[in-house]
Amino acid sequence: MIATMTRRHLVLGALACPICLAAGRVLAAEGSYWGYAGAQGPERWGRLDPAYAACGAGREQSPIDLDGAVAADTATIVPHLKPVPLRVAHNGHTIQVNCAGGGHTTVGAKDYDLAQFHFHHPSEHLVAGRTFAMEAHLVHRAADGEIAVLGVLIEAGAANPSLAAVWAAMPRAAGPEVTGPGMVDPSALVPGGKLWRYAGSLTTPPCTEIVQWAVFQTPIPASAEQIATFAALFPNNARPAQPLGRRFLLRSGG
Ligand SMILES: [Zn+2]
Repeated sequence: MIATMTRRHLVLGALACPICLAAGRVLAAEGSYWGYAGAQGPERWGRLDPAYAACGAGREQSPIDLDGAVAADTATIVPHLKPVPLRVAHNGHTIQVNCAGGGHTTVGAKDYDLAQFHFHHPSEHLVAGRTFAMEAHLVHRAADGEIAVLGVLIEAGAANPSLAAVWAAMPRAAGPEVTGPGMVDPSALVPGGKLWRYAGSLTTPPCTEIVQWAVFQTPIPASAEQIATFAALFPNNARPAQPLGRRFLLRSGG
């Protein structure tokens, strides 16, 4: 009995440690621990916690392979984003820049306030089977709780000055938000131009199907060094592509 308890305690301790230091509140607020590999990996998210059921049973999940899109006139997307003081956190799953006061994006006639942006390595969305080096998600919330995410694919190329300030400030281990120095301009991450559009979900537990996705077709660059710096912290924090199912995948804009 003692041996069993000790072993169980050690296992739980080992699992919790990546986000336990300052993330007790995160654990309490977000439910059971989840990760990107092994027993807590994406294939098991739906069974880790009843609150995560959509991760396994949902039929409109994200990410997807952005292949075979249909041209369509869809609601226009107009970002109205503005610089905010840099506030960045390592939450155990990604690097997240909190953006209260960072403006909004208008989708059709509806405004979604920018809440935060964060990163995945490698990209979560695929393009005809191709994975990109990274992907940024600019997460917006409307007053009614619906979420719109602007997805930006990132490929190896020139050093990206818009990422440099975030990379310099980002904590190397999970913990509370840190501040600055300086400002960060979320609009600098948005390439503009044509988009893929579809209705989907959060790509992390609880995988709630409340997201209007808009992924830009033009990637932005990051240097190999910038990508490697993030990859050292997060070797893989990308959920695998989910079935499109009966949904429409549209391409629009210009
Ligand atoms: Zn994301």
